[in-house]
Amino acid sequence: MAIKLDKIKDERKRGKFTFLLKGGDEIFANTIRRLIIEEVPTLAVEDVEFRDNSSALYDEMVSLRLGLIPIKTDLKSYELKSKCKCEGQGCARCELKITLKASKKGYVYAEEAQSADPKCTFVYEKMPIVKLIARQKIDCTMTAVLGLGKEHTKWCPGWAWYQHEPKLKIGKVKDPEAIVKLAPKGVFEVKSGRLAVDQEKLYEWQSYEFIADLDPEIAIEETDNFLFTIESWGQLSCKEILSQAADILMQKAEEMENLI
Ligand SMILES: [Zn+2]
Repeated sequence: MAIKLDKIKDERKRGKFTFLLKGGDEIFANTIRRLIIEEVPTLAVEDVEFRDNSSALYDEMVSLRLGLIPIKTDLKSYELKSKCKCEGQGCARCELKITLKASKKGYVYAEEAQSADPKCTFVYEKMPIVKLIARQKIDCTMTAVLGLGKEHTKWCPGWAWYQHEPKLKIGKVKDPEAIVKLAPKGVFEVKSGRLAVDQEKLYEWQSYEFIADLDPEIAIEETDNFLFTIESWGQLSCKEILSQAADILMQKAEEMENLI
């Protein structure tokens, strides 16, 4: 089967990418989805060493918050600890140190943390970590490592989902204007008295199913193609996530081939 991808929408700022997957079946689409969620590695804080924490939050609670802040991940510079040459001892290839020192009254934000690697910093600068009152302090060193979403959700690079591509079959609709009003702007329009659909707008509309109940001349058909969406949490771009998932699939196939 020849796989084809047609880009539908690439919203880089929102970290969302939608494409049409042609030539694959449910098994293939679901394999890619699961590889994205479970196997594409990202950096996340794994250990935190506190020198001082007089904030209202216990060390464990601060650590939990730090662990869940996405870190920009450079997969060329880092290696999973289990695959690193240092054999799990910890080195610059498999560990990233981030320090956080704050004593000012008010919120402590993610941007105040100093990463040893300027390429790999917390993604969301204004994510609050803890709130300090007068004379409170926080001083800690974090160790971030690469990990997989199947071990802990903090390493998950984003979310992925798919559905069969919807196609509408439209006949002579009785009241096309009424249908236009019921759908989000731009999905339908009336062209020389007949109802016409904008296919790309239809892809974005999640709850189109009811439209078939409004007029017997409207029928929803699903094609064999898949409308696939990836939403990144920020560590990697959607395209990096997708190409990583494809690489991992190839590696797994090769590993299996070597065993035969
Ligand atoms: Zn190492």
